[in-house]
Amino acid sequence: MDGCLFCMIASGEIPSRKVYEDEDTYAFEDINPQAKHHVLVISKKHIPDVAHCEDLSDGQLAACLRTCAKVAEQVGIRENGYRVVTNCGQDACQSVSHLHFHVLGGQQMSGKMV
Ligand code: AMP
Ligand code: ZN
Repeated sequence: MDGCLFCMIASGEIPSRKVYEDEDTYAFEDINPQAKHHVLVISKKHIPDVAHCEDLSDGQLAACLRTCAKVAEQVGIRENGYRVVTNCGQDACQSVSHLHFHVLGGQQMSGKMV
């Protein structure tokens, strides 16, 4: 979508530190990491958030979670565990309106979710 930061990252128009890419997804390091490892996994097709997931095919949606697991394996956080988070809307403090999953790990995290 025109003017969308994450669409421009997925297309290479805006540089990013790529971790993984396939037909449906793109993964890159978060510019402001909130854990030792913090990777963002985005759908290549633009949808604003998970509330619009009916606009992705089952395959495109499943690919996002598969890529989260692949990224965790690739950066070496699979064994000790990691967290996958997606923010949706204002109360969740979503700041970029393009579906993305935060993959966070590499350290012990808080037991609190909010
Ligand atoms: P959210 O607040 O859930 O919408 O997450 C958006 C994330 O995008 C934040 O963690 C930001 O640090 C990250 N971010 C914003 N701009 C960039 C960028 N140019 N490259 C990488 N990560 C970014
Ligand atoms: Zn987009």
